[in-house]
Amino acid sequence: MDKIKMTVPLVEMDGDEMTRILWKMIKDELILPFVDLKTEYYDLGLPKRDETGDRITIEAALACKKYGVGVKCATITPNAQRMTEYKLHQMWKSPNGTIRSILDGTVFRAPITLPSIHPVVKNWEKPITLARHAYGDVYKSVEMRIGGPGTAKLVFDGEDGSHDEVVIQEFTGAGVVQGMHNTDKSIRSFAHACFQFAADTRQDLWFSTKDTISKTYDARFREIFDEVFEQYKARFEELGITYFYTLIDDAVARVIRSKGGFIWACKNYDGDVMSDMVSTAFGSLAMMTSVLVSPDGNYEYEAAHGTVTRHYYRYLQGEETSTNPMATIFAWSGALRQRGQKDGLKDLVRFADSLEAACFDTLGEGIATKDLVPLMEGVTPQPVNSARFIAAIRERLEKRLA
Ligand code: NAP
Ligand code: MG
Repeated sequence: MDKIKMTVPLVEMDGDEMTRILWKMIKDELILPFVDLKTEYYDLGLPKRDETGDRITIEAALACKKYGVGVKCATITPNAQRMTEYKLHQMWKSPNGTIRSILDGTVFRAPITLPSIHPVVKNWEKPITLARHAYGDVYKSVEMRIGGPGTAKLVFDGEDGSHDEVVIQEFTGAGVVQGMHNTDKSIRSFAHACFQFAADTRQDLWFSTKDTISKTYDARFREIFDEVFEQYKARFEELGITYFYTLIDDAVARVIRSKGGFIWACKNYDGDVMSDMVSTAFGSLAMMTSVLVSPDGNYEYEAAHGTVTRHYYRYLQGEETSTNPMATIFAWSGALRQRGQKDGLKDLVRFADSLEAACFDTLGEGIATKDLVPLMEGVTPQPVNSARFIAAIRERLEKRLA
């Protein structure tokens, strides 16, 4: 069989620990035998980031901007303990944070769903994709403890000499205050990414805030979404999808009652909280995919989980591990499909579809990593290690491509 050709390179970002081991297994067994893989390789493993003064992360992000599609392995975000473990020169920033700020993107997280794994919420038939605004609000807030009686104010001094102030509270005793912000530019990027992604994936878009209470701040989000929607209206009509705005509390109730199959755009804090609720209710972190979409249409695919450190330490002891590679495989299939669509390569798109189908074939027969075994119903699970699981997928992929 001739290998499938590519024309434009995919930006490949390698990572750390157990996911780095899975990365190589996935490439060797599931990609390289079938695709004449063209990648521009960036090693974002912690040793290389340290060696390059984290320059490599910036270069990788710029390459994603240049070529439009990247696939990333999970990486360590260093803390004090990692500083000693890896003898680091600095406590480098989160690579995902760096990439996100360069691509100016929105993160979409969607579960991989299976007939044998039932969501905790019985009526969820299709995945729910959560789009979280990744800038500002309480994550970039300033706070103050108030010691006793006095007046707290919000003050704005414009560069043009304008001056504005409002009283937050006349304190009669001790308390707390907080100041937070967002920018029209960031909210607008977020809105574009959401409408774009909804159109690309042909799903309805829901957006929710609390603009009945926050009549200026949250209302600005709603206004900007309404404005931006004007540019997508015709395309949405053509695709038969809708944009729906509702209050966050109403959205929560509707999400629980829904059948799924839509994108839920959330402000930063709502997205932080709700993504953990949605992913847990769908089953497992190991089955959650994540894609960063920039407003100018660049895509970066990855698994939502981390480097699975606990499994890696066992692997280093020579133990076999049963780490689930699904989300990382789907990061590759997502990136290859996107590359195929951008470059008009039907075979590459078909390969991505077949790879995902082979994963479903394997799990459908009950062959699964240990984390999924307690979740499966209606099949007799056969727990296997990562290598056996990937080998089983390869057999089924070969059949599908034959
Ligand atoms: P984690 O790597 O997601 O793992 C947490 C636990 O979840 C694991 O110990 C394992 O549970 C389970 N798990 C996660 N993925 C799994 C998989 N594919 N298969 C089977 N089980 C899986 O989170 P963490 O341990 O908090 O973080 C480890 C490192 O990852 C940290 O250095 C952190 O900075 C980094 N991180 C990176 C990213 C990213 O690059 N996007 C995201 C999050 C964290 P059991 O041990 O019970 O089996
Ligand atoms: Mg969180």
